[in-house]
Amino acid sequence: MQLTDQGYRLNENINPLDLVEKYDAPLYVYDSAIISRQFNKLETAFKVPKLQINYACKALTNINILKLMKQLGAGLDTVSIQEVWLGLKAGFDPRDIMYTPNCVSIEEIEMAVKEGVRINIDNISILEQFGHLHPNVPVCIRVNPHILAGGSYKISTGHIDSKFGISIHQMPHVSRVVEATRLKIEGLHMHTGSDILDAGVFLQGAEILFNVAANFKDLEFVDFGSGFKVAYKPGGNATDIESLGEHLSVRFNEFCKSYGRDLTLIFEPGKFLVSESGYFLAKVNVVKQTIANVFAGIDSGLNHLIRPMFYDAHHEIINISRPEAKPRIYSVVGYICETDTFGDNRKIAEIQEGDILCFLNAGAYCYSMASNYNSRFRPAEVLIHNGQDYLIRQRETMDDIIKNQVEVNLESLQESKV
Ligand SMILES: *Cc1c(COP(=O)(O)O)cnc(C)c1O
Repeated sequence: MQLTDQGYRLNENINPLDLVEKYDAPLYVYDSAIISRQFNKLETAFKVPKLQINYACKALTNINILKLMKQLGAGLDTVSIQEVWLGLKAGFDPRDIMYTPNCVSIEEIEMAVKEGVRINIDNISILEQFGHLHPNVPVCIRVNPHILAGGSYKISTGHIDSKFGISIHQMPHVSRVVEATRLKIEGLHMHTGSDILDAGVFLQGAEILFNVAANFKDLEFVDFGSGFKVAYKPGGNATDIESLGEHLSVRFNEFCKSYGRDLTLIFEPGKFLVSESGYFLAKVNVVKQTIANVFAGIDSGLNHLIRPMFYDAHHEIINISRPEAKPRIYSVVGYICETDTFGDNRKIAEIQEGDILCFLNAGAYCYSMASNYNSRFRPAEVLIHNGQDYLIRQRETMDDIIKNQVEVNLESLQESKV
């Protein structure tokens, strides 16, 4: 988003205030040009013979975003059978979908096998059952390299206490299971969590995976997961993709040489691809001066954007209705009936009731984590593509709130029991 002489503009001269006028608020808006930019950045950073980027779709699951990713040449990383079905519906080839579940039943894994997608297994119990059921279906193994990748503990997945992956120290046991069941291991995978601050940690994880890889003869790919960090504030920390690409490409190519053939290098970014593409627009209902603070209460809450309350995530907040106004200090809060804070002590251009606030980095883990808490409707979603705005999800209505509820006649039930 840019500030112009005529106020804030999204891509292609689209005025976000016009979108609110047209679709109402609160509203999620995604800019496809930013998604393409991020995709290209990743694709050009890694110089290896075979590279595949699987979009981790749990970040933003609108089917139009999935189709866009397919057009860009991405595969899909899925964590539930429902995401698998969504990916198939979006037109992905089953072999371009990786299914990476954690703690799901063998029955759900069976469903994924039936769909023909790639299976990533993250515990020995399931590996053993799978080996007996489907000795001929190749699988990938999710390895836990036991590195703490930085970022928030809540979103780290590769450390010693994590529930994810099979420990590198259990590889002898894995080898035994593989030999006994004659399973074909087609890939190795690691994903050490979100927001990796230090590219060195990636390289350290890579070395660990290369070591493990030497024990498996049938590999076709090595998947380094994701965790790429994007900047949440102007000048904030972000993963240096170019530098990581340079170093990792060299090591990967060396590894392939010693392994004896070219493997595919896979990444599965979610946040990196979609975070910056998203804007969340919400109207200010109340400006409330208390003895200690000034609150800007908006027509939304943690039901629409839970990241600040869930893991202290930072979203920049801009008053797009009043770009020229003098900044003042606010706490921006939501309408949910419990602590519901989007940001404390924020310097924002003076807010008046009815103004529209814009939250940045609202593409990843925002709409996809939205709920109906407080029986509120989830917002609409709009995609900006080639200079045009398209409604890609309707705002919910009362029908959505009530549609799965089953009303029983409690009075008559009580009577029949007496
Ligand atoms: C969530 C997830 C990702 C994506 O993580 P980001 O931090 O959004 O890039 C990748 N792989 C797996 C297995 C995941 O669960």
